Amino acid sequence: QEGERLQKVLARAGLGSRRACEELIDQARVEVNGKIVTSQGRRVDADKDEIRVDGLTVATQSHLFFALNKPVGVVSSMEDPDGRQCLGDYVQNRETRLFHVGRLDTDTEGLILLTNHGELAHRLTHPKYGVTKGYLAAIQGPIPRDLGKRLKAGVELEDGYARADSFRVVQNTGRNYLVEVSLHEGRKHIVRRMLAEAGFPVDKLVRTRFGPIVLGDQKSGWLRRMTNTEVGRLM
Ligand code: URA
Repeated sequence: QEGERLQKVLARAGLGSRRACEELIDQARVEVNGKIVTSQGRRVDADKDEIRVDGLTVATQSHLFFALNKPVGVVSSMEDPDGRQCLGDYVQNRETRLFHVGRLDTDTEGLILLTNHGELAHRLTHPKYGVTKGYLAAIQGPIPRDLGKRLKAGVELEDGYARADSFRVVQNTGRNYLVEVSLHEGRKHIVRRMLAEAGFPVDKLVRTRFGPIVLGDQKSGWLRRMTNTEVGRLM
């Protein structure tokens, strides 16, 4: 049979449990392509059919978007043949295949997006689109006043120049500095390599932003569904 059951699509769109969504259907509050549906057996295509509840269009995309705060020590792959901790260990949803949007080093923590939208996952990591990523790096000071300027002007790495878009000192407790760096490229170990080249090896690295998505105070190891607003900004 084609499509998915209407109540399942409604539940996934955030309208309540499947049972609660069955009630919405019973109460004749749900329309599919302009017609009220009251039968529980109705199947729909979440990407094509226009579904409304109480007259308002429901965001029913069958695409799933998650934000994970990856802990240190977790490998950036969905599965790991050697049994190391990997991204797949943090996902309960086994219904669809998820892709990770780019990678973080195993010893880097922070924001990594997961989605079943393979094409978008690919696009978001493509250099052509240059999505801005933000990082917090712990380094040892003292740092020169012009460190930000140097990083923004570009440092020469073995595979070419790398430039930061922004740099700021977030915290400075004498010797220990916490600095925020943003950049829009995604070469391997790029932030660690840039800072090391500038003379400041990174003790700890956290990704706090990926394009329009921010990590905020999401706990380490926690996965959350992105909001429809966030998904809209990402597309
Ligand atoms: N830069 C790094 O050095 N490591 C990451 O994981 C991401 C960016």
